[in-house]
Amino acid sequence: MIDLHCHSAFSDGSDPPEALAAMADQLGLTALALTDHDTVDGLPSFLACQPSTPTRLLAGVELSAGFLGRSLHVVGLFVDPGDGRFRRRLEELRLRRDARNEAMVKRLGELGAPVSLDAVQSRATSRVVSRVHFALALVEAGHASSQEDAFRRWIGDRAPAFVPRRELSPGEAADWIRQAGGLPFVAHPGRFAGRGFRWEEAILDLKKEGMAGLEAYYGDQAPTEEAAFLRLAREAGVLVAGGSDYHGAHKEGISLGTGRGRLLVPDGILAPMEIELGH
Ligand code: AMP
Ligand code: MN
Ligand code: MN
Ligand code: MN
Repeated sequence: MIDLHCHSAFSDGSDPPEALAAMADQLGLTALALTDHDTVDGLPSFLACQPSTPTRLLAGVELSAGFLGRSLHVVGLFVDPGDGRFRRRLEELRLRRDARNEAMVKRLGELGAPVSLDAVQSRATSRVVSRVHFALALVEAGHASSQEDAFRRWIGDRAPAFVPRRELSPGEAADWIRQAGGLPFVAHPGRFAGRGFRWEEAILDLKKEGMAGLEAYYGDQAPTEEAAFLRLAREAGVLVAGGSDYHGAHKEGISLGTGRGRLLVPDGILAPMEIELGH
């Protein structure tokens, strides 16, 4: 069993990278990829756990792209954390976040749920300040009863204080990841669009844009969705990725490796990726 999607305190997870590596070992995971949003800064300390951790530790990242008017997440696996151009590109994304965050603070004030930028930033544990940190600050200020409530009432994708970031196109996200030596995958496709959406067409478009495959195994989806996305990948001739999207205490009910309890990402999906990369 492996897990190719999780977050550390270098983005919007609660656990340090070293703790994730240790948990993977305890769980008996064969491989674990750290995929923080818009940063590779957690990867050096994560990868440094390798000689003492039997679990194979892999370098990853998660980006967001605008697709059909909505946000499509992209997980990059096997990226080179030392790639200077990639690191500069990620810093540009963090600057776009900062601008978005200022606009969201303003909006929350106008809507009667004031939080200061300082309060939000003080919840963040790195340069990546995300809506998770807004949720924590909103709960702290008494404007929401829980993180879920904060997303539902204020900052979720369809909530009144949400301000989107200026996003990459899917092709740009795929290029950035490939140019950093990695393979780009459409992350949690079921969260982008579920039943009724023409995934058969969309995945072929995204493949043309450079996507290597899709995350058919995911910590927070039904077994029927998993089966449907595995079939979609097979029919479109793309690779399959999978992981829990563990955020530690910042995403309730999701465990490393097992997701909501029944996730099982098979080791066998790694070999086709390495063939594609020519490793
Ligand atoms: P951002 O990238 O700053 O827009 O924040 C997005 C992050 O917020 C995601 O990576 C999730 O960790 C979290 N998130 C988004 N929607 C929800 C939700 N409805 N409930 C809980 N967490 C969410
Ligand atoms: Mn997140
Ligand atoms: Mn995501
Ligand atoms: Mn994620």
